[in-house]
Amino acid sequence: MARYAYVNGRYVEHREASVHIEDRGYQLADGVYEVVGVRDGKLIDEKPHIDRLDRSLKELRIDWPVSRNTLGFIIRELMRKNRLRDGLVYMQVTRGVSRRDHGFPTTPVKPALVLTTKATKHIVADAGSGVAVKSMPDIRWERCDIKTVALLPNVLAKQAAREAGAYEAWLLDDKGCITEGASTNAWIVTQDGELVTRQTDNGILSGITRSSLKTICNSLQLKLVERPFSLEEAKKAKEAFITSATSFVTPVVKIDGEKVGDGKVGATARRLREEYVRFSEAGEAVT
Ligand code: PMP
Repeated sequence: MARYAYVNGRYVEHREASVHIEDRGYQLADGVYEVVGVRDGKLIDEKPHIDRLDRSLKELRIDWPVSRNTLGFIIRELMRKNRLRDGLVYMQVTRGVSRRDHGFPTTPVKPALVLTTKATKHIVADAGSGVAVKSMPDIRWERCDIKTVALLPNVLAKQAAREAGAYEAWLLDDKGCITEGASTNAWIVTQDGELVTRQTDNGILSGITRSSLKTICNSLQLKLVERPFSLEEAKKAKEAFITSATSFVTPVVKIDGEKVGDGKVGATARRLREEYVRFSEAGEAVT
């Protein structure tokens, strides 16, 4: 079965999909993106993801390439064409094609819109045995709240983590506090049973999964504190986990080779993963 991508108004075969060499996304990382998870043919948290796309576009003064309604239609059409049941929809908007110059184009150009889908295995509620993370300095810029395609520091951090046998990198600010993962938000459960995740500001991406999990924590009457936490505190924590549209809630059992708690998946992370999987099953299937 052919796999399709959407590129600037057309559904094209994925292996033939391409953009112009002077697209500002390609040359200058002048663009933003979103990733929406799909489970059983259902989009997870579509609205907040598109709201965040809107915010990212406004922060960079890039116009919407199509209307919001049209984007919703394109997402569904691509899912249908690719028979996507489980996986993700990737969407990217760049400032468009223009002769290379750092400043914004002086004559209006149409922003470029690209969508792809990726099939993944069906995520199960069972947390498995958890993952390892590796800490490293957060060398990113001061606008990590904007979801831009300028991901080189994240790429390098993820690669270093993989080379160390870890699943994710946990990034450290200059005070020794963990900001977030290379592509996930970071959480711990302290020995006192306090659930902690860093507050959102320009230092991290405001994760949609993080936000939905906050609501779930509220409904379970779990006490959540949004504050900075250090690498030392994380290493002494009872539990740790990460959240994102693609990893849902994934328990962290090792930080820099040291066991978190007893090195096994903790009760809170296990429960929250189950609850999040249940939450992802709500809504209407697209395909
Ligand atoms: N932080 C970063 C740097 C990310 O790239 C992501 C993934 N988009 C996240 C956090 C998690 O965000 P979300 O839950 O919206 O996927």
